[in-house]
Amino acid sequence: CGIVGIVGNREVAPLLVDALKRLEYRGYDSAGVATIADGRLDRRRAEGKLVNLEQLLAANPLPGHVGVGHTRWATHGAPTTNNAHPHFTDGVAVVHNGIIENFAPLRAELTAAGADFVTQTDTEVVAQMIAAHIRTGMDPRAATLATLQRLEGAYALAVMFDSDDGMIIGARNGPPLAVGHGKGEMFLGSDAIALAPFTDEITYLEDGDWAVVTRAGAEIYDHNGNRVTRASQISKGTA
Ligand code: GLU
Repeated sequence: CGIVGIVGNREVAPLLVDALKRLEYRGYDSAGVATIADGRLDRRRAEGKLVNLEQLLAANPLPGHVGVGHTRWATHGAPTTNNAHPHFTDGVAVVHNGIIENFAPLRAELTAAGADFVTQTDTEVVAQMIAAHIRTGMDPRAATLATLQRLEGAYALAVMFDSDDGMIIGARNGPPLAVGHGKGEMFLGSDAIALAPFTDEITYLEDGDWAVVTRAGAEIYDHNGNRVTRASQISKGTA
């Protein structure tokens, strides 16, 4: 399973799929990509191998210079297209690797507050909770931090917002997540190998970190919302 994100200056859907191929070695049962273009989120998802997703994209391309991709190894909810990531709730797109251990009480809480769940995954609580916070007036960063502070379990996450077409927020607690530094483009990926075609300058997030990634760079914060500095390194991944 794997995650990739690109805040770029060119069509990203094919690049996202190429990066996901470099993560195939981790195993997966389904895959998906989402982009944002003209203030609108859109996605393609497919069961099985990445070639199925590629065929979908060939028949029905996904434009956009900013996007996220995911390969899923299902833990909660069958490996169907509907349970494949990215998950969308009210202009919030989420991809996740790992397990949200307290998803059941969070889902119950959100449902009681009116949320309409459309998948069987543990992951959907993340999208639903961020969207619920945004509805109360929080901006995307505050909504994401408030949500991260409620999550128990293991996650690498990438989140996009239809209100900001130049930003992806990544977060890590357990599974690795790396920020890749390009020239006027920035990247997120489960490892340096996924990002090797784009850049070899990598910053690994530490557990509890989250990163606001824009074309200008990455701002990294800890679990309390304090800005932190994480050294970047030149990866020896294969280009
Ligand atoms: N627990 C999530 C799901 O089942 C993510 C699985 C993964 O790591 O790919 O959808």
